[in-house]
Amino acid sequence: MSFNELGLSEAIVRAITDQGYTTPTPIQKQAIPAVLAGGDLLAGAQTGTGKTAGFTLPILHRLSAAGVQPASASRFIRTLILTPTRELAAQVEESVRTYGKYLKLTSAVIFGGVGIHPQIKILKQGVDILVATPGRLLDHMQQGTINLSRVEILVLDEADRMLDMGFIRDIRKVLAALPPKRQNLLFSATFSDEIKALADGLLNSPAMIEV
Ligand code: AMP
Repeated sequence: MSFNELGLSEAIVRAITDQGYTTPTPIQKQAIPAVLAGGDLLAGAQTGTGKTAGFTLPILHRLSAAGVQPASASRFIRTLILTPTRELAAQVEESVRTYGKYLKLTSAVIFGGVGIHPQIKILKQGVDILVATPGRLLDHMQQGTINLSRVEILVLDEADRMLDMGFIRDIRKVLAALPPKRQNLLFSATFSDEIKALADGLLNSPAMIEV
């Protein structure tokens, strides 16, 4: 099976081909059609399985298929991806840029430990896809420097690590600020009772995949 056959647009397949990928990994074969279909997803996947492309590729497809937002400064955040660490946030945003290089979507990454003002400036310029760590995202929410009222797709990446790091309260505050009608994707390497409880409250009849 090829990336083309999974239903991804030519501009996305071209970017993947540039990366030298020829065949989708098992998680990508399952996650890409599920995310393209628009429903929620619960995915059990470790790092190194190609999970990042598994969610970023179909998200890029869905956002670009829905049309480009007009004036850049009035763009709303349409996809929010939460990750446990800065390193992962930076990597995921790099993937979004790489796979979306032939699309007219904008992305940004925000995490703690660095100045907040450059992030505020970037957010003001208008961002389609935001990758963030929970703590710094909450800082922006509390300062009123971010508008999450138009988020269509939410991703919790490495959700188990976010819970291990004590982010559950932050995550719950972020969830409360999102519009109720949206697509939710939860990726986790392990499934504790705490993850199951989070998934139960968050996901509506999710597709379930495990690799
Ligand atoms: P991840 O599990 O998302 O951290 O991805 C692990 C690594 O696999 C990354 O370095 C990707 O660039 C690479 N990768 C992802 N999908 C593919 C694919 N279909 N073919 C070859 N390499 C891939």
